[in-house]
Amino acid sequence: MNDKPKVALVTGASRGIGLAIATDLAERGYRVIGTATSPKGIKEINAVGVGKLLKLESEASVHQLFTELKEEDLLPTILVANAGVTADNLILRMKMEEWQRTLEVNLTGSFLLCQQSLRQMVKDKWGRIVCVSSVVGFTGNPGQVNYAATKAGLSGLIKSLALEFGSRNITANLVAPGFIETDMTNALDDRMREQLLRKIPLHRYGTVKEVAAAVGFLVSQEASYISGQVLHINGGMYMA
Ligand code: NAP
Repeated sequence: MNDKPKVALVTGASRGIGLAIATDLAERGYRVIGTATSPKGIKEINAVGVGKLLKLESEASVHQLFTELKEEDLLPTILVANAGVTADNLILRMKMEEWQRTLEVNLTGSFLLCQQSLRQMVKDKWGRIVCVSSVVGFTGNPGQVNYAATKAGLSGLIKSLALEFGSRNITANLVAPGFIETDMTNALDDRMREQLLRKIPLHRYGTVKEVAAAVGFLVSQEASYISGQVLHINGGMYMA
């Protein structure tokens, strides 16, 4: 048995859900690499792991990250593709750059991360991929055609990976959070918050820790036989 802790790469780990996932995985004993888009974000991550710069809209930035990780003997066998952006607008007003950027960061970015991470996973004959989707990828949401399309697209991505790499002992799953207490949901006004709460059977928002716990389980040995699945974390708001 190799006693070296497994390396987990968590994108978008400077705040919100990603920081909670990085913290949880570090507490579980993994060697955590977290990414942010600026030095300020990297500083946050350095408290729980190794902070690295990553801009998912740039293929070169993804390649640079993996070059550095290789040089530092830190290639991950656990990937949590968490970073995501929104650029909301009604479709008739949506600008091409709002569509394009959301696709580049959320979907193409996840594809590139999976592609790069899989090399070490195949070598080790072990790997865990978890992509972070959203309930709106399954329900749709007015004003979010771009975001919802990327989050739905991740479902096809992980299912295909589960089929392609199952024989190498690599699992690929999706977590789909509903409304989670983060900067994003805290910014909603009281009327909107109350409207949303009425749709949630548990009648509260989720916490970042609850999402992190689900990810922690999916990357663990205990979840070895779970692949190609979507784990909804939404208080019952949407039932698949
Ligand atoms: P957040 O607080 O907005 O944080 C986003 C993270 O992604 C930050 O670490 C940010 O880095 C990073 N990031 C932003 N743009 C990036 C880019 N172009 N390239 C690489 N990294 C980038 O997000 P969150 O609310 O925690 O959400 C995390 C994930 O969960 C997202 O995929 C989101 O779609 C999904 N989700 C969230 C909710 C919710 O209720 N919050 C619900 C469902 C799904 P910097 O700090 O450097 O900007």
